[in-house]
Amino acid sequence: MRKTSVTESKPFILHSLAEGVFAAIAEDGGSAISNAGLIDLGGQVLVFDTFLTPQAALDLRRAATDMLGRIPNIVINSHYHNDHIWGNQVFVPEAQIVSSARTRDLIATAGVEEFQWYSANSAERLETIRAQYQNTNDEHQQKQLSMWIGYYEGLVEALPQLTVCMPGITFDKHLEIYGNKLTAELITFEGGHTASDTVLHLPQEGVIFMSDLLFVGCHPYLADGDPFQHLNALKELSRLNATCFVPGHGPVGTSDDVKLMVAYIEQCLETAQTIVEEGHAYEEWIKELKIADHFQTWQLPQFYQTNIRFLCERLRPANGEKQA
Ligand SMILES: [Zn+2]
Repeated sequence: MRKTSVTESKPFILHSLAEGVFAAIAEDGGSAISNAGLIDLGGQVLVFDTFLTPQAALDLRRAATDMLGRIPNIVINSHYHNDHIWGNQVFVPEAQIVSSARTRDLIATAGVEEFQWYSANSAERLETIRAQYQNTNDEHQQKQLSMWIGYYEGLVEALPQLTVCMPGITFDKHLEIYGNKLTAELITFEGGHTASDTVLHLPQEGVIFMSDLLFVGCHPYLADGDPFQHLNALKELSRLNATCFVPGHGPVGTSDDVKLMVAYIEQCLETAQTIVEEGHAYEEWIKELKIADHFQTWQLPQFYQTNIRFLCERLRPANGEKQA
């Protein structure tokens, strides 16, 4: 796989996956945070997700003109989370923004609340995390904190000019986009990572841009979705015979990484089920939990407890009724 460094600040590294197909993989400490895709279908240039900030997205737009000689004309928003769509504005007006109808609804509702929260709290969060960084000598913790420093530094810089551009075209479950060379297939799943998650499949190249249905080498965030729908989506996507899976976070993966993600969710469900069956006071138990061996080295370990807590709530019998 060829690597091309595109900018001095390096919010991401472009990886060439096939002719005209690039994965933009976010660099630690930069203001991209999530991964994106840049795809030349022939006569049409697509961007799949636009990072956390317009400044990182502007670098992707520059990469498109430098390497493909064209400004992107279609932007896909995979789901409503800020780290995948807050760079939208740099591609407008040349590009049409496309998402599922449900994702558009979520950008207009939960997304607006998210925007208000970050506008009110980002500067303070940045100071708190910088202080935590200064006060620790633990390298692992410093690495985690440096990601969040990049996140909030990017937001503090971006927010005064940030406009969340809404998708202008929506679809339901499937959409195909035909270029002169390649066809892109958009497939939407309900209730996996969020209420609506779209992946981009390039059947001729065996590539799937998975968005946050897949994390590689880091804990996924399960608490805004449904673990059972998430597993269904991963199993369905495994059947497409792709060889290259671009995650929403982490390096470019293979079908083995999809299997690991399935194993992670199943292991979390099993752990949560055991805790719930023990009855009340599971918060104490969650605090003492050790991450399973397979996932010890994964980044974002703080998501583990959040995931288990969420799954315990999800599996808990309704109305306090006793577990059968
Ligand atoms: Zn997400």
